[in-house]
Amino acid sequence: MKRRALVAGNWKMNGSHDFNASLVREIVLEIKRFPDIDVLVCPPAPYLDAVGRQLAGSAIQLGAQNLCEQPKPGAFTGEIHGGMLRDVGCAYVIVGHSERRALYAETDARVAQKFAVALACGLTPILCVGETLDEREQHRTEAVIARQLAAVIEDSGIASFKQAVIAYEPVWAIGTGKTATPAQAQEVHAFIRGQLAAADARIANSTRILYGGSVKAENAQSLFNCPDVDGGLIGGASLKADEFVAICAAA
Ligand code: PGA
Repeated sequence: MKRRALVAGNWKMNGSHDFNASLVREIVLEIKRFPDIDVLVCPPAPYLDAVGRQLAGSAIQLGAQNLCEQPKPGAFTGEIHGGMLRDVGCAYVIVGHSERRALYAETDARVAQKFAVALACGLTPILCVGETLDEREQHRTEAVIARQLAAVIEDSGIASFKQAVIAYEPVWAIGTGKTATPAQAQEVHAFIRGQLAAADARIANSTRILYGGSVKAENAQSLFNCPDVDGGLIGGASLKADEFVAICAAA
């Protein structure tokens, strides 16, 4: 089965009205060249509405970087409900990014709750999984990823992956300039697909698994050529229009 590639830009805590407007203007113009892939940008929450308006009429979709695990809106100061993200036009939301797991103490259980709320709100969660350098050196990569996936599969069920995307992001490759080799990425992507297949082979075959971690124009092609790599989650390089467009061209 041929899976449609997805290239998602994770802007992290970067941008301003002016910066976003010029970045989006350039991407929107160029992206028309790639009708066969899905393209997504994930700006910081305060800019979702404005970026969404600028994207109107283009094929580029809008995603958020995080959401609250609470199933219902209410007295949760500073938090953002998934329904609000839908309301401002988000189609996707990133859950369990390693920066949130490491810096904001998001546990597997919390990530699973966020995943479930995203689905309930009609958003497509992009579930991030990945090992640290220590874990890789201790040959625990597969165990860590199996645990991260199992928390979500047990909570939401394998069928939930009909409306979800997985991103494999080795923590040691994020923002470090060190990219996993295509062979390293393919090995883990195949493992992830195998974990899904153990529960449901058809869903495993149709689920998109993105690679993330120092993807650039120069290495995107070789990563995207791997049979189990279905696109990328792009951090730093998504803030430069020409670089992001070149990555889309490789997908
Ligand atoms: P990077 O970030 O491309 O800057 O390494 C990827 C990510 O964290 O999603």
